[in-house]
Amino acid sequence: MMKGLQRKISYRDLPSNFYSEEGKVEFPNVEIFAFNEKLADELGIDDVGQFSGGVEGIAMAYCGHQFGHFSGLLGDGRARLVGEASDGEGRLFELHLKGSGRTAYSRGGDGKATLGSSLREYLVSEAMAALGVPTTRALSVVLTGEKVRRQNIELGAIVCRSGRSHIRVGTFEYAATLGEESMRALADFSIERLYPNAPSHGAERYVYLLSEVAKKQAHLVSKWMSLGFIHGVMNTDNSTISGETIDYGPCAFMDVFHPLKTFSSIDRNLRYAWNKQAEMAHWNLTRFAESILPLLGTTEAEQVKNAEGALGSFEGLFRNYFNTMMAKKFAIELNEETSPFIIESLEMMTEEKVDFTIFFRKLTQFANGDKSQRSSFEASWLKKWTSISDASLFEKMKKVNPIRIPRNHQVERVIQSSNQGDKLAFENLLEAITSPYEENEKWAEYEKAPDGKEVVRRTFCGT
Ligand code: AMP
Ligand code: MG
Repeated sequence: MMKGLQRKISYRDLPSNFYSEEGKVEFPNVEIFAFNEKLADELGIDDVGQFSGGVEGIAMAYCGHQFGHFSGLLGDGRARLVGEASDGEGRLFELHLKGSGRTAYSRGGDGKATLGSSLREYLVSEAMAALGVPTTRALSVVLTGEKVRRQNIELGAIVCRSGRSHIRVGTFEYAATLGEESMRALADFSIERLYPNAPSHGAERYVYLLSEVAKKQAHLVSKWMSLGFIHGVMNTDNSTISGETIDYGPCAFMDVFHPLKTFSSIDRNLRYAWNKQAEMAHWNLTRFAESILPLLGTTEAEQVKNAEGALGSFEGLFRNYFNTMMAKKFAIELNEETSPFIIESLEMMTEEKVDFTIFFRKLTQFANGDKSQRSSFEASWLKKWTSISDASLFEKMKKVNPIRIPRNHQVERVIQSSNQGDKLAFENLLEAITSPYEENEKWAEYEKAPDGKEVVRRTFCGT
């Protein structure tokens, strides 16, 4: 397979009720706001113009459980799959537009996106990629020349993102409504694209799929949590089979640490709080298992046993990933003696109301010789940390404790100046957060926690 754009969209190989063909949509005045040259280069794309406007493509059908309740058919109401590109290693990536106009699944929606939400997605997803978190990437943001009505009148925009796959748990919930043959087609498609090492046939093939997705999700959520990231809307329609982070809406990196922190204005029950994310990923995986149940065995008893077997390891996997990542952040050797220290430390961090990123940043500085940071830590905790941390791991702390993350107040500031036509603030923040581990004085401003009036407590779906 040659690097670069492919001639077809593979998703069209699925039965036609998995998607809807969408024709070109005209926008008044399409203008590029941001273009990710590095990503375009990786994917062998030289002309972003071809993905800039409401080009023809397919809107994917999917269902979803939103905040715990089944919503029925949702689908890409303002998004479409417009192409596919291969990277240098022969891996295929889908190109997906968001904000590209109404589709067969738009229901009451206008099919549009705002510049603000598109830039938020661009900044946060690119920061995540730089932090080593599996995620969709942002290729471009274009202004459409339209005004979009939300809480305010906003500038319309389209974000083009790339991802290994846009298949969601909700896509399987949809397939389940179509019957076993369609379900098998979707499962086989997913396996060929994402899990090609699966057994070639039999229930084992689909048990493998379920186990691998569970592993990917356990890994993903532990990555999020180790960075203080809160996705915000972990509905099954925003939960991928590839294990990539998708749909950056009311998401955020925490400033002050609290395990029950949420940001979404509509998540009143704290369903998707920082420390609930593993449980919620497991909940979504259970919906996934239910959807593919007929493929998991020949008898009902066998199906249930296989599903339980595949999902039974989730909790342990998650714990293991999370503790391993946290141990690296604290520079401790992980064992039975040291692992309670992680929990104790998170409790201390909650009580002390520390800034999550700055706490680990300072600990890294302290460990690597900056003794002036001593006063930043609670004395008895520091004594314990000093006694159990491993000096041979101090240097490595720099690779897991980022200096800069896209803080909410900075993102909001960038959105405001971008709305005024100033791109510089966007470009500067982007540069700073896509080199998250690099020491550089010129980015000192982006390290800072928000002061009182800058704190963003809620983000809205004002998308
Ligand atoms: P999201 O919250 O962005 O994950 O979207 C949830 C569902 O609502 C998906 O089916 C979206 O396609 C749909 N949706 C969100 N915003 C719009 C919009 N402006 N127009 C049409 N559909 C939308
Ligand atoms: Mg979504």
